[in-house]
Amino acid sequence: MNPVESLATRSLPPIQVGGLFITRVVDSLEHFSPRIILRGVTYDHLQPHLDWLLPNFLDENHKLLMPIQSFVFRTRHHTVMIDSCIGNDKRSGFPQWNQRRSPFLQILTEAGFPPQSIDYVFCTHMHVDHAGWNTRLDNGRWVPTFPNARYLFRQEEYEFWQGKKEEISQYTMEESILPVIEAGQVQWVDSDYAIDDEVYLEPTPGHTPGHCSVHLHSNGREAVITGDVMVHPVEVAEPRWGQVSDTDPALAAQTRTGFIETYCDTDVLILGSHFADPTGVHIVSTPRGCRIRF
Ligand SMILES: [Zn+2]
Repeated sequence: MNPVESLATRSLPPIQVGGLFITRVVDSLEHFSPRIILRGVTYDHLQPHLDWLLPNFLDENHKLLMPIQSFVFRTRHHTVMIDSCIGNDKRSGFPQWNQRRSPFLQILTEAGFPPQSIDYVFCTHMHVDHAGWNTRLDNGRWVPTFPNARYLFRQEEYEFWQGKKEEISQYTMEESILPVIEAGQVQWVDSDYAIDDEVYLEPTPGHTPGHCSVHLHSNGREAVITGDVMVHPVEVAEPRWGQVSDTDPALAAQTRTGFIETYCDTDVLILGSHFADPTGVHIVSTPRGCRIRF
């Protein structure tokens, strides 16, 4: 692992959605070659899009710039974390995410959100980079990181991963999901569950079976936290490319296409879970196809 990247943990200035101020806490900033993330996609495929992807969303070598980040905010009633990044001391399929020592909790606290202040944690899906900080190691035992939080889990998502036999899938279950269930902090929710009148889930299956995006509504303004419906802005223009980690590629492409159609040329702010700064974008139609504006 590049030691500079381990220092990428930081919080970014809040994004305003009506009365909500969404803080991004970045656990890691990754530079991925496209084929690691997007099925069959090479640097050549990115060429027609360099003019709008550089410099925010590609690095100078045209690798995909992808933060692993949590969105944290206070509604009128609750303090909410959407996705919990990679975590420390975990195992995963990515060498650079194994046995990490990231100052994520310190940065989160400095941003105004100490772990005990979080009321709800929702993981858009149960991949390692979205569920890792659900737990932390305490004297060799995995315990919930957020002692006062209710963790909202989707039964469908849990059962899918529970049924997987691969070692890599089981790491996240063993380290980041089961300990929360055993601690009695899980609330099982439907795919349209509303945390309160400002935050509700929106089903976006395909990347994983129980995958949900998160809709925010405050003072007449709306935003959607994507989860991994899309992991990089280039997918707004190329929704059929597909992601290597989609569990149902056909459904994922259908969901992604529908998501883009739904939000294109609207006032709804798209908060891309892996979109680099500025993260919040609008999807707009252009003569060349859909693009983003920020
Ligand atoms: Zn992800």
